[in-house]
Amino acid sequence: MGLTVQVWRTALPHGNDVQVAVRPWAINLLLNGEAPSFTFDPLGRLHAAFVGGVNYRRSLDNRVLSKWAEMTRGGRRRQRRWLDPGEAKALVDAAYSLARQTAAQAGLAPPAVRAALHRLGQWDWEALEANARRFAQIYTPVGILPPDQYLALVLQATHGCSHNACTFCTFYRGIPFRIKTPEEFRQHTRDVVDFFGPALAMRRSIFLGDANALVIPMPRLSALWDVLAEALGGDEQGTLTGVERGSTGGPPVAHGGEILGAAGGRGLGLPVFAFVDAFHVERKSAADWQALAARGLRRVYIGMESGHDPLLRWLNKPGDAQDVLDAVRQLKAAGLQVSVIVMLGVGGERYAAGHVEDTVRLLNAMPLGRGDIVYFSDFVQHPEAPYAQLAAEAGVQPLDEAAVRRQELAIRRGFVPRDPRIPPQFSRYAIEEFIY
Ligand code: SF4
Repeated sequence: MGLTVQVWRTALPHGNDVQVAVRPWAINLLLNGEAPSFTFDPLGRLHAAFVGGVNYRRSLDNRVLSKWAEMTRGGRRRQRRWLDPGEAKALVDAAYSLARQTAAQAGLAPPAVRAALHRLGQWDWEALEANARRFAQIYTPVGILPPDQYLALVLQATHGCSHNACTFCTFYRGIPFRIKTPEEFRQHTRDVVDFFGPALAMRRSIFLGDANALVIPMPRLSALWDVLAEALGGDEQGTLTGVERGSTGGPPVAHGGEILGAAGGRGLGLPVFAFVDAFHVERKSAADWQALAARGLRRVYIGMESGHDPLLRWLNKPGDAQDVLDAVRQLKAAGLQVSVIVMLGVGGERYAAGHVEDTVRLLNAMPLGRGDIVYFSDFVQHPEAPYAQLAAEAGVQPLDEAAVRRQELAIRRGFVPRDPRIPPQFSRYAIEEFIY
């Protein structure tokens, strides 16, 4: 993939100045050197914006999440809100209006800039709504992704969650767990590649969905991986080169032009990421995990929630703390990176002390290092989840925000990295900010 960046500026009527930056993975419009700023994918679909101090992200189902920072007594606090459709349309209209005004001045712009502006000119709110309907035909709802995977290319090898019974979780309620056949997965992959077209250049990884696709028994998983390798081959540098051109059109941005043949033992070109239940890791052999690592699996995410077994049982999580530890050891031994997700505040006051103590103990027993991530996810109580009623019946009192932050701090302070030179990364996992 070429890394050429084409930047061009022009003056608009009324004294405004606009800069157009065309990169292989995105098109950006910037007004007056600062804001508003609009980012589009290489196909021309609005992806993100920064207007009036507020960040916006548009999802592929055409909703817009706004995020901003607010000063409170406790310091800066991140705020977020989904726009209503009228507000979302106004943002989209503003973005494409600026694109049209810029295109009207672009007669002498470099060809790449004119081509990019032409692509922007093909979109408006109605076109994005139609595109969202196509998205809904290709995907079942993408329930959640780890925060570092929001720019992944999601491919749904399974639908739903094989457990689907944790009392706090609503991500896949009403979606029966199902593993796709190779034929179904091939069609899905083709549809996805067609849907993204040149916008594949914006995608940095493959996320194998949904909740725990790696529970698929190895022979069936290998067959699905063959489908991935057929459709998304790669070169030795890990660059996506073999994406089939689809009917979504647009000029070629980063494509080899044909489906590569079966990639055999070769990597896929993009690293692959996925969730797995700790409980299921031991169902694959060490050789199986090594084979998946050799075929491009990079990091596996485990929703451990807690190291405190009584809390895990109360939450109806499958498996226990020892299962999580065994799983992490097995995955690390296979050369994979691991991310474990700790849920803060879950179990309220009743479980707080045991949650902190046993989670620290469990994290400290794990061979975590560079490339691994410990995520902290604040518990969010959903009215539809059984948790609320169970907590009320058991008299479990929720923790307030300050207590949740203290819990986070206590776990971080208790953590002792195996090798202080290469500690794992710690990061927040705000499920309310998930967007795809
Ligand atoms: S295993 Fe994960 S996705 Fe499945 S119900 Fe539990 S928390 Fe939700």
